[in-house]
Amino acid sequence: MKAKKQIYGMTPYQPGKPIEEVKKELGLSEVIKLASNENPYGASDRVKHTLEDTAGHLEVYPDGYAAALRKKTADFLGVKGEQLVFGAGSDEVILMLCRTFLDHTTNTVMATPSFSQYKHNALIEGAEIREVPLKDGVHDLNAMLEAIDEQTRIVWVCNPNNPSGTYVNNTAFREFVQQVPDDVLIVSDEAYIEYVTADDYPQTMSMLADTPNLMLLRTFSKAYGMASLRVGFGIASPELISLVDRVRPPFNLTTASQVAAIEAIEDQEHIKQCVADNAEGLKELQNFCSKHKLTYLPTQANFLLIYVKVPGDVMFQALLKKGFIVRSGQALGFPEAIRVTVGTKEQNKAFMTAFAACLEEVNVSSK
Ligand SMILES: *Cc1c(COP(=O)(O)O)cnc(C)c1O
Repeated sequence: MKAKKQIYGMTPYQPGKPIEEVKKELGLSEVIKLASNENPYGASDRVKHTLEDTAGHLEVYPDGYAAALRKKTADFLGVKGEQLVFGAGSDEVILMLCRTFLDHTTNTVMATPSFSQYKHNALIEGAEIREVPLKDGVHDLNAMLEAIDEQTRIVWVCNPNNPSGTYVNNTAFREFVQQVPDDVLIVSDEAYIEYVTADDYPQTMSMLADTPNLMLLRTFSKAYGMASLRVGFGIASPELISLVDRVRPPFNLTTASQVAAIEAIEDQEHIKQCVADNAEGLKELQNFCSKHKLTYLPTQANFLLIYVKVPGDVMFQALLKKGFIVRSGQALGFPEAIRVTVGTKEQNKAFMTAFAACLEEVNVSSK
């Protein structure tokens, strides 16, 4: 066998540790996972009820065009149906964009640290990766502009950025978009947009009409609490969508996921409640950090990047022993940090108790 040469230098995605695995490994009866930025409250009850009804005709292929979900989403956002492309998670839209635009003669520009899948999928296509370090924790858009050349096909702006939680503001984003050449695709990955509270977050929807090379990425995996069902989508000009649609696998969204996503859009009350609870939880976590003299990056999402003054893996292991799964910053490009997803009120409280004990154990207070 001979795979594409770039495959040999790659590793499979390392997800947050599954709860069941940790329970078994450490003999714990209760484990709380605050590692994958999932919504701790899960999906709306209405979604769960709808799913029970979809078991009837499992032999029938799903609607490949996702017509009903397309109409629902388009109406909700105030765009046309042909401005949307759906994926099995926005992960799959990222994959489709790389398949559509990248090959070994091209390059793609992104921030680092940022979401891993831009680089991963671009590498598979054999493209050159141009990573531009965050500046003060935020995308360095000027340096990203400088990295763009004739061979650049995609530039990625993760906003808010995972794993830092930081955001690019409206003015900065608009200036950036104006300067990016028309033939370079600009991707604004807005996986956490529902959680954003900043007034000066970019109004990207209103830019679509004048910016045919802009694509926004959204997902049902985070605030909508449906990560297990895999639904994400891109919003862009019809011209751009029609290109990407050519590489889309024909039945990439299951019937269950389409039905669930439609119902999820209907229940905005649920999203509002989850977002409000997230803001509360975030405040408590931030207060905890201040009290324990730990710095963190300002976040617009449902997670917090906390500097722990010891290697991230050390704090990760200490927390794991107490039954809490977080993400070590070491794998995410922040070696002395952990990334913690905001949980329910109860989970946050339990986490802070365990975290305080871990800080004592690894003697962070003396550093
Ligand atoms: C979680 C996440 C995604 C992927 O979400 P799916 O829709 O579940 O594939 C995309 N981008 C960012 C920045 C994320 O954090």
